[in-house]
Parts: sequence; structure tokens; C-alpha cells
Amino acid sequence: MSRPTPLEPAPRLARAVGLEPGDLWVKRDDLIGLGGGGNKVRKLEWTAGAARAEGATTLVTSGAAQSNHARLTAAAGARLGMDVVLVLAGAPSEGMTGNIALDGLFGARVVWAGEVGEAELEAVVAAVAEELRGRGARPVVIPFGGSSVLGAQGYVEAGRELLEQAPDLSTVVVALGSGGTMAGLVHSLGAERVLGVHCGAVADPEQTVSHLVGGLIGGLVVGGPAGGGPAGAPLRLRLDQVGPGYSALTEPVMDALTTAARTEGVVLDPIYTGRALAGLIAAVRDGQVRPGRRTVFLHTGGLPGLFGHAETLARARSAVADTAVRWPRI
Ligand SMILES: *Cc1c(COP(=O)(O)O)cnc(C)c1O
Repeated sequence: MSRPTPLEPAPRLARAVGLEPGDLWVKRDDLIGLGGGGNKVRKLEWTAGAARAEGATTLVTSGAAQSNHARLTAAAGARLGMDVVLVLAGAPSEGMTGNIALDGLFGARVVWAGEVGEAELEAVVAAVAEELRGRGARPVVIPFGGSSVLGAQGYVEAGRELLEQAPDLSTVVVALGSGGTMAGLVHSLGAERVLGVHCGAVADPEQTVSHLVGGLIGGLVVGGPAGGGPAGAPLRLRLDQVGPGYSALTEPVMDALTTAARTEGVVLDPIYTGRALAGLIAAVRDGQVRPGRRTVFLHTGGLPGLFGHAETLARARSAVADTAVRWPRI
């Protein structure tokens, strides 16, 4: 599936964030060739691929209403000829746009779980899988965000791919959601070279990533207060971009979205990649990322989520409203 994904220079964005023009590159995993793209495709190749090889008929997964992972599981099911059931937090509403519209287009069935927490969502998933089994289907549950140790293998591979494209890589900046993407990169690049920007999707990001990294290095769970990468180096995390919560749009994120769009024509999303760039900007400001070295921004996708986020759309539209004129002028 379209490998390697492009690594593109971003000289204008580099200058805008306080780096030298040659310092910043964007790894375009948003362009990976399935279902609108994004990082979940690399994980699903492992998890959904294994499910099919085991003879499963149905993929079941869960997420937020605007889950990119749910949308890409729906697309993977279509590609593999499997049924897909998505258990989503929330309730059906009028503005079912963005990822939800694509879930429908890919033919997935959606089960609305209501306003529930993570544990309750998992309980609904288990109940749905049981019901499917009772009806003779062979369901496999893909974990939240696709972030099992198996799924994280997709980003172990991606890290190796990136190293071939950029052997002098100093830091790759990545949004941290369910943790599998960062964990895989830490495994192949080392903890020193991966900066994860927490997006508020999990309660304890350090523990989440450490646990997956531990699984990748052979079933050994690395934990403890310092967390850890393969060589025991501490994980590099930024926890300062969550704001009022996972689905909230913050000013630094709106600035990051606008900057990426207006310097490079690159679209980010308000939940993940916007936070990752806002985190990079903050990291340059406080010296955690420095000029004169190769920094890669991992574009993990999320564009459909932008179209499911009313506040971001309203802010983007207001820029048009401020500048628009009708022709002819009178
Ligand atoms: C899920 C997601 C992430 C985070 O990846 P995890 O492996 O869950 O940490 C980043 N960006 C986008 C667009 C995503 O959908």
C-alpha cells in the first residue's frame, strides 16, 4: 500500500516555527492509500490482516464518534471483504459529518454506546461481539485506536522506512493518542529521537506508551515513574497541548492549523496533528527542538475529522467571510 510514504521538505513552515528552512520535513502518512489515509492504516495491516488470516468474518472496534481509527477499520473491512461493526461513544445526531459519513459510505454498522467512559465502551464491544458470535459470525475485536503490540508493529516498520529516507534524523514529532504509533517509532528509532505530543485520548500517556514499547521488546513490560524506551532512555513527551480536553479546539492548535495551511498548503486536524504541530512550536520555543538538525513532523492524517468538528469549520469559514467580496463591486 503506497510505500514508502513521501517525506517532503517544509521550508516555509520551518521558518514560521523558528527553525532553519532545511530543518523540517513532513512524513506524509496522511497519503497512505486506503480510506482517506492516516496512521491507523499501518496498524490495521497487522491487526485486521491477522484477523482475516485466522478466519474471522467481522471486525469490531470502538472509538469516539469522529474516530479516524473507526473510519479506517471500516475501509479495511471493505478492502478485505469483511463485515465491520463500530461501537462509537455518543448518540446519533443531525450533524453526522466527517468520519461518520465515511463510516456509512464504507458500509460499516454503527452501534451508539451513549456518553460512556472507556471501560463501559469496552463492555459494549464485548457484548456486541458475543451477540455476533451467537448469530454465527466470527468476530475479532480490534483494540481502541488499533494500539495493541501487534498493531504497533506497523510503526516499527514505519520508523525503519523513515530512517532510510532520513538517516540524519534528529527528532520525529508525533501526536500521541492511543500510543501505538509512538511506541512503534520508539522501538525502531530509540526514545531519544521521538517526541510525542499527548492529545488527551488516554488517561496516562506515559504508561500507555511504555507498556506497548515493553510488549514490543519481547513481552517485558517497562514501567516505573521514568517510563522508558528500548535502551531505558526516558520517553520524550509533551503534555501541554491537551487544553480543556480531547475534543476541544485550543488557540495554539488553531494557530498551528492556520500556519501549516498558509505556509505549505498542508491540512492538519484539530484533535491530533494540530496538537502535534502546536507541540512542535512550543518545543522550538523552549529549546526542546533546536535549529540546525533534521526534524520530521509525522502527518498522521485526520482530515475527515476536521469536517466533523463544527468549531474548527466555523473558524476556518470566518476567514473567508472576512475577506470575501461580491463581484461586481458597488
Ligand atoms: C489515532 C491518531 C493519532 C494517534 O495515534 P495513536 O497510535 O493512537 O497514538 C494521530 N493522528 C491521527 C490523525 C489519528 O487518527
